Amino acid sequence: MQSSPGGGVIRRLYPVGRRTLLVCSFILAAALGQMNFTGDQVLRILAKNEKQLSLLRDLEGLKPQKVDFWRGPARPSLPVDMRVPFSELKDIKAYLESHGLAYNIMIKDIQVLLDEEREAMAKSRRLERSTSSFSYSSYHTLEEIYTWIDTFVTEHSDVVSKLQIGHSFENRSILVLKFSTGGSRRPAIWIDSGIHSREWITHATSVWIAKKIVSEYSKDRIVTDVLNAMDIFLEIVSNPDGFAYTHSMNRLWRKNKSTRPGIFCIGVDLNRNWKSGFGGNGSNNNPCSETYHGPSPQSEPEVAAVVDFIMSHGNVKALISIHSYSQMLMYPYGHSLEPVSNQEELYHLAKDAVQALYEVHGIEYIYGSISTTLYVASGITVDWAYDSGIKYSFSFELRDTGRYGFLLPATQIIPTAQETWMAIRTIMEHTLHHPY
Ligand SMILES: [Zn+2]
Repeated sequence: MQSSPGGGVIRRLYPVGRRTLLVCSFILAAALGQMNFTGDQVLRILAKNEKQLSLLRDLEGLKPQKVDFWRGPARPSLPVDMRVPFSELKDIKAYLESHGLAYNIMIKDIQVLLDEEREAMAKSRRLERSTSSFSYSSYHTLEEIYTWIDTFVTEHSDVVSKLQIGHSFENRSILVLKFSTGGSRRPAIWIDSGIHSREWITHATSVWIAKKIVSEYSKDRIVTDVLNAMDIFLEIVSNPDGFAYTHSMNRLWRKNKSTRPGIFCIGVDLNRNWKSGFGGNGSNNNPCSETYHGPSPQSEPEVAAVVDFIMSHGNVKALISIHSYSQMLMYPYGHSLEPVSNQEELYHLAKDAVQALYEVHGIEYIYGSISTTLYVASGITVDWAYDSGIKYSFSFELRDTGRYGFLLPATQIIPTAQETWMAIRTIMEHTLHHPY
């Protein structure tokens, strides 16, 4: 996407028209009860050293629940992106300037992007209804995805079926697609997306990939070989409550929606709730934090359901957990700097996967272990998978690098899915040819 923050439909109108449109969308959003982000900005800071990084980390404590890190402070070579509410902009910018932290404005007004996204969805929904079709190049609600799953499973019942592996905190179904050509308890590949609900590109990518797997079976040699020997499980919406909430109320919600008596803040970061390294560095004990790990390992039903499923299956050989954004492909560990025993193999596989991804649209990814590439993060899915004996465990951070962040325009869904698929296919092929 080449357009600027205020680009697209709105900017082409005359100033009066634009203002009227903004007022209308504000009224509409208010009537629907949705959180409004008018004037909120995403600032990018390039910290020069560890000291500057720690000044940024301090902001979470100084301004609790005011600063929302989209790319958290990691290492000086990586930018830090943070959403700052309009009401805090003056203070935060003064803080940055007083400490010599240079910043630039990545997104000038978040609400403008949200309005464009909503408008694109409404337009696509009208078209889908009039043609009784499903658009793979649009974002969809939980209901729409669940309806699509039912249709998809019916149309391809020879290869794919739907499993319900549990219920979310708010009692929504947790669904998994099973791709299988027969056999029982075959070696399997697990893929999940959307554990962080605001990462909409991940759900959309998984929906496209589901269709791709089915259409490539018996055409593409690798997909055919994989499905003739292995099963693939795909959990498209790993955090259904959070995802529903991103549509109904707060587009930028990350955690699940669990509540506990006596605790004011809602939600646990589901990617800090796994047993491996639980409660360690890079997770937070404060229930109001975006990285709150929860009261105990697997306390959250969305995590417990996956743990129970994978453990009782007992034959999962690869696990791929899809996030956004930053354009990275990573492997364990997150909770420790210690290299895993097959680190060399994972490094070379990540390199090959990233190369296959690059060849599709020229998008560059960085790769390596989570703790050395990004930052130390404890209680995460792929560490748990690795420690449970799944030696091919990877996590993706999809497009982009911050131009749109979590608000990636729908026009990028298909290119993102196409390139991600080639990387996943590389990991699947390697897993097939290296049985253990
Ligand atoms: Zn994520």
